[in-house]
Amino acid sequence: MRSHLLNDVTAESYRRSVTEGVERVANRLATTRQPFTGVTVDELAPTISAIDLDQPLGDASAALDELDRVYLRDAVYFHHPRYLGHLNCPVVIPAVLGEAVLSAVNSSLDTWDQSVGGTLIERRLIDWTAGRIGLGDAADGVFTSGGTQSNLQALLLAREEAKTDEPHRLRIFTSESSHFSVQKSAKLLGLGRDAVVSLPTDRDRRMQTPALAAELERCQREGAIPMAIVATAGTTDFGSIDPLPEIAELAERYGAWMHVDAAYGCGLLASPTRRHLLDGIEHADSVTVDYHKSFFQPVSSSAVLVRDAATLRHATYHADYLNPRPMAEVGEPPLHAVLGGRIPNQVDKSLQTTRRFDALKLWMTLRVMGADGVGGLFDEVCELAEAGWQALAGDPRYDVVVRPQLSTLVFRYVPEAVTGPALIDRANLYARKALFASGAAVVAGTKVDGRQYLKFTLLNPETTVDDIAAVLDLIAGHAEQYLGENLVHAS
Ligand SMILES: *Cc1c(COP(=O)(O)O)cnc(C)c1O
Repeated sequence: MRSHLLNDVTAESYRRSVTEGVERVANRLATTRQPFTGVTVDELAPTISAIDLDQPLGDASAALDELDRVYLRDAVYFHHPRYLGHLNCPVVIPAVLGEAVLSAVNSSLDTWDQSVGGTLIERRLIDWTAGRIGLGDAADGVFTSGGTQSNLQALLLAREEAKTDEPHRLRIFTSESSHFSVQKSAKLLGLGRDAVVSLPTDRDRRMQTPALAAELERCQREGAIPMAIVATAGTTDFGSIDPLPEIAELAERYGAWMHVDAAYGCGLLASPTRRHLLDGIEHADSVTVDYHKSFFQPVSSSAVLVRDAATLRHATYHADYLNPRPMAEVGEPPLHAVLGGRIPNQVDKSLQTTRRFDALKLWMTLRVMGADGVGGLFDEVCELAEAGWQALAGDPRYDVVVRPQLSTLVFRYVPEAVTGPALIDRANLYARKALFASGAAVVAGTKVDGRQYLKFTLLNPETTVDDIAAVLDLIAGHAEQYLGENLVHAS
């Protein structure tokens, strides 16, 4: 069994099995004709249950054969141009290469003595990202597992900076279209049940700043503390960007921490033509970026950035075995203080301890393609969304909600004949399910003002306007079929 450990003796078998694995995945990618096979839970579950985990196959080829049956054959493929579902992206090859390197070397980015070099690479990328945001010279940050964790950490810092021992008085202001991780964070941070103040959005699903101003005013009047304003730069459903400059002004006026959740919109930081859409983000106290959404990186790759590096101390804890207090603090000789003080331990800034070297993927991406290369891909999908919106707006079968700033389209099928809204809801829901079951395309769904809508999240530059048109025809076909059957039943 030792022969399976990756060491110098097994380097040859590492080469062989990784090459074979790459070969299989590459073949799957080259031959998948649809984003999905349409397999059901009932079909797949028995195959996976039947595998005896105490009877190893002993060799990679056999395990890969099996994997093909239990996973690869029926996986949902985000690289397919008709995968238009959630905020998942096809990945760039330099990042996949980085992924292969980082898991084989297996650095852990908690302390320097486990990640020599890696820590410095991560820091350069944090500085690069903070520079693109415009956070200033005192900025810092750390890679995280995702936007959920980034938002949690940002709000932890905001809570600590609010400097109160009455957490029930703290309020977080955010729009009704912001990500649910804001609510979840408030709960995890022990804030009161009314801590999150949800603000209405305008027609374009952007936070209404007059409402924000009114709520901040009320908060002050009632003796509550405006802990943070969470602006979203790219809402999950609509890709809408809150008015960042106006929000920054209000944050300043009321002494609230300004967090910008750019989990989705962060791709604009590298965009050769659309960076201005993020104007005002430079005023943030903290920013969430998900490279695994709009930088075409494999899951997971995210970061939280802060304007003032010193605020990261709220995440610092010391363990004697890992990152002991700098010697100066505990009164040891100065020589140790110098050495200890200079050693960069990223664990001091993170909610995690053992942590993947996810930064390497972005590093390889920038070193091979450059920022314009990856930002150009995001521009392409934003342009595609505009073209898709034109198509939807001119299509009498559909009602489309918001003209996109980024790359999502929210719409619903509306039949020509007058029918009740509940039936239209069901027809759209049915169309989405039927499409998924066929595997021909994958689309998402969401609710708008209580009604069932469908959503395209466009993150694949290979998707064309023709793909969009074809999927719209498929959706209409399924919806019409549903209405046909149900109207017949009703009569
Ligand atoms: C996806 C998303 C998140 C959550 O990020 P994860 O990486 O899925 O944890 C947070 N905010 C917004 C706006 C998002 O779109």
